Amino acid sequence: MTPPAPDHPKQLPPPPKGEQVFVGLGVSPGVAIGVAHLHDAGNVAVPEYHIPPDRLEGEKARFADAVAGASRQVSLLRRKADALPGESGEELGYLLDAYQQMLKSSRLVRGVDRRIGVDGINAEAAVQREIDQIVQGFAAMDDAYLAARIEDIRDVGRRLIRNLTKTPFEPFTQLPRNAVILAEELTPADTALLDPAKVAGFATVLGGTASHTAIMARSLGLPAIVGMTGLLSRAREGALAVIDGAEGKVILNPGAETLAHYRSKRAEFLKRRRQLHRMRKIPAVTLDGAAIKLEANLELAGEIDGVLAVGAAGVGLLRSEFMFMNRKDLPSEDEQYAHLLQLVQRLDGRSLTIRTLDAGGDKMPRALGFAEGPNPALGLRAIRLSLKHPEILETQLAAILRGGAHGPVRILVPMGSAVEELRAVRDTLGQVVRRLKRRHVPIASPLPPIGTMIEVPGAALAADALAWQSDFFAIGTNDLTQYTLAIDRADESVAHLYNPLHPAVLRLIQFSAEAALRARIPVSVCGEIAGDPRYTALLLGLGIRDLSMAPSSIPWVKQRIRTLDLMAATKRARVIMDQPDSQRIAQLLDDFNAGN
Ligand code: PEP
Ligand code: MG
Repeated sequence: MTPPAPDHPKQLPPPPKGEQVFVGLGVSPGVAIGVAHLHDAGNVAVPEYHIPPDRLEGEKARFADAVAGASRQVSLLRRKADALPGESGEELGYLLDAYQQMLKSSRLVRGVDRRIGVDGINAEAAVQREIDQIVQGFAAMDDAYLAARIEDIRDVGRRLIRNLTKTPFEPFTQLPRNAVILAEELTPADTALLDPAKVAGFATVLGGTASHTAIMARSLGLPAIVGMTGLLSRAREGALAVIDGAEGKVILNPGAETLAHYRSKRAEFLKRRRQLHRMRKIPAVTLDGAAIKLEANLELAGEIDGVLAVGAAGVGLLRSEFMFMNRKDLPSEDEQYAHLLQLVQRLDGRSLTIRTLDAGGDKMPRALGFAEGPNPALGLRAIRLSLKHPEILETQLAAILRGGAHGPVRILVPMGSAVEELRAVRDTLGQVVRRLKRRHVPIASPLPPIGTMIEVPGAALAADALAWQSDFFAIGTNDLTQYTLAIDRADESVAHLYNPLHPAVLRLIQFSAEAALRARIPVSVCGEIAGDPRYTALLLGLGIRDLSMAPSSIPWVKQRIRTLDLMAATKRARVIMDQPDSQRIAQLLDDFNAGN
């Protein structure tokens, strides 16, 4: 391994004292004031096992994939370092270049490859052994520069082992009280582990506004920011930190005046939220009398209290994949049933829409451990994955059918794009029904409706055909925007281009809504725009009467609905749909919202 040439000071500069302000993309509103906690990758348990000779080549290929993955991650960070101002970006850049070198055909990579073959062990164990040996060698040389490199080598090793074991870091067990988490990246699974009673908010370097991590933050009501370039190299553990989720600002070591400003802003936000919560019993009706159904999106069972507290009409989207996360095995039918039963009972007659496993991309449960494929966003995910592994779908459908014996449930198919997929789900449901009936297990009667998520442009364009195979539609504008505009919803570098107000996205929403209305099936929107009052008039104007969103958004959207004239909104939507560019559309919408 070749360390970088020692012609630069290799330690990162000490953080400047005094107040520092960083600006990123605010993804969840609110103000957090707390203690900075730098979330690092942490140590991962290293499994060790024997690899038989005929599988050694496969093991080496698995290691090569992990190296390629680590190299991609480091390149991404390198690009971010380039964007940093001044010396800190330069220094960070040198460090990351050194990491990148370690991932090329270095002693580390060659050594691991050799160990897999010679020792006949798995790649994780080979990485650990090789790192230990390199570190020992460096330590024996009694050279201050090399000693400083030891942590870098360990860091690269941890990254490789994490990639190999596909271990989402299970952190957050020993947090300071009122922690403000600052991290390179939080996966949706990591975010699901955050306890809002202990965590005040978070800011990450990576991530887009419509990422599942951002969605989780909104669901948990945690102020959050992504795309926070430059933050990690300047922040120190234990520093006082403020997050303003609406403005997208992190302030480290705030001065007395700044702190007082954000304390009062926080108090104001909380007061406003309490006032809005008092609206829970007031109906969501427009000025001209149209009743709008406001449902909640739910990820974790613990959020059900929040759903009931805001007076949601039901759960319009249960992201069932969160039941599969942060565990090593797959949940059994009984476990899934127990989980659903609890929700059905708490909902007490309100409907529960359960989306079947939407695994893949950034939400691949460890127990599935499938290879990601060259393009995870377009790969074996969601309903495609469930149909490829029918045992997963059958187990899930059985649990849903059993849960449906205790209250209204609906089945929602994620990322459907063809009528054949819907037919296959119906066939599987039929088989599961017969199996349960043979065993006299009580199930939903009548059978639950089966709906399609409209989130692939092809599904929206074929909405007329899909409507005949579907009992309802739920338009997933997060993915619909991502796939229509070819913009990764989780990538902060293209976040400025991610725009649900693009005419192409709006046309697909309109086309799907009209197809549903023609086929007389219910249609809702459950993407993030459903929970943003800025879009309410437009969605209603396009014929949508059912919106499903993070529970914390319901009061804000309800308030907007109650000030809205549906006839006027419909007229404005017509004008908007004639516009060729999103800027003009945004202007027309914002003017309408401002009462102009
Ligand atoms: C969507 O894509 O709009 C959606 C609601 O699903 P998810 O955000 O879970 O992908
Ligand atoms: Mg989606």
